[in-house]
Amino acid sequence: MAGCVALIVAAGRGTRFGGEVPKQYRRLAGEPILRRSLRAFADHPAVDAVRAVIHPDDLALYEAAAEGLATLAPVPGGASRQESVRLGLESLVDDAPDLVLIHDGARPFVDAATIGRVIGALAQADGAIPALPVVDTLKRGDGGRITDTVDRAGLWRAQTPQGFRFAAILEAHRRQADRELTDDAAVAERAGLAVALVDGDERNLKVTSQEDLERAEATMTATETRVGTGFDVHAFDPAKDEVVLCGVAIPHRAGLAGHSDADVGLHALTDAILGAIAAGDIGDHFPPSDPQWRGAASEVFLAKAADLVAARGGAVLAVDLTLICEAPKVAPHRAAMRDNVARILGIDPGRVSVKGTTTEKLGFTGRGEGIAAQAAATVRLPAEP
Ligand code: MG
Repeated sequence: MAGCVALIVAAGRGTRFGGEVPKQYRRLAGEPILRRSLRAFADHPAVDAVRAVIHPDDLALYEAAAEGLATLAPVPGGASRQESVRLGLESLVDDAPDLVLIHDGARPFVDAATIGRVIGALAQADGAIPALPVVDTLKRGDGGRITDTVDRAGLWRAQTPQGFRFAAILEAHRRQADRELTDDAAVAERAGLAVALVDGDERNLKVTSQEDLERAEATMTATETRVGTGFDVHAFDPAKDEVVLCGVAIPHRAGLAGHSDADVGLHALTDAILGAIAAGDIGDHFPPSDPQWRGAASEVFLAKAADLVAARGGAVLAVDLTLICEAPKVAPHRAAMRDNVARILGIDPGRVSVKGTTTEKLGFTGRGEGIAAQAAATVRLPAEP
């Protein structure tokens, strides 16, 4: 089978947490912590299979947490973390993968780059772990008093996933089964394996307390607000007798020329939203050279921009549009335009502003050669670290 299997260790009871549900099944921003840990590996292109080691009492919790993810059936763990890892490794003996990554189920923030660094280092070493240098000064204390200052030079904080050649770590775990070691690298070291250090990640923390959970939740639910602007112009086409502005058809001495329905208002709004998420412009998503957009209702473009925001876990907060022309008059149609834009974006009309202005008969809009539109959009996105 698989060249690289991830073994997610989630058999603990999480007694430090209190409460009924073991910590790895507690929810973090709406999802079980363990689900996030599993998904990081299930989604990684260099990981071929994912297996969790769980407490036998937690099967129903596990199945709910892993629903829809491509994972192998879980196996029951033992009385200690070390025993649980060994049992997980034993469960893979028949498949005998080349590499195994052993990861704490309670580290839901591991990212693809960290996983990749560990796997990459295994080309040169029997084992590899992500680690961070100790930056705080270390004190030894006794009875509330410092007894010594410990030299921190060369000290590292070990994280997971810890990666190993499968056969070597299985053998090491079998030999060290009667000792109590706190991580798999320690098991490997005892067996004389060469274990490399790769860069860890401060965000790859282990959720061990209620405070950790709350801090992690606050980080995950943090948002940022972005602003984008859009501008568009369409010339009048005397062969037409209505203009379409924000989806509202208004009888007029001319219509607007353009490949789609030439709705200059919706085009400017679309570009404003695309601008807020730096997703290119309307021409990138709907090339005028593509015949399928001939005569298209521009509502499709705006809806697509809103979908791109939603796909990033964000939301359009507000849009503001100014239509610039001498005629037709915008004011009589403003309420219908706002309602229409609000409907397309799926937001309240109170978040949609449509304004009309003239250019005092100056310039191309003043001469009645066409209509210009400018827009701003504010968008809320999950905060990027
Ligand atoms: Mg346009």
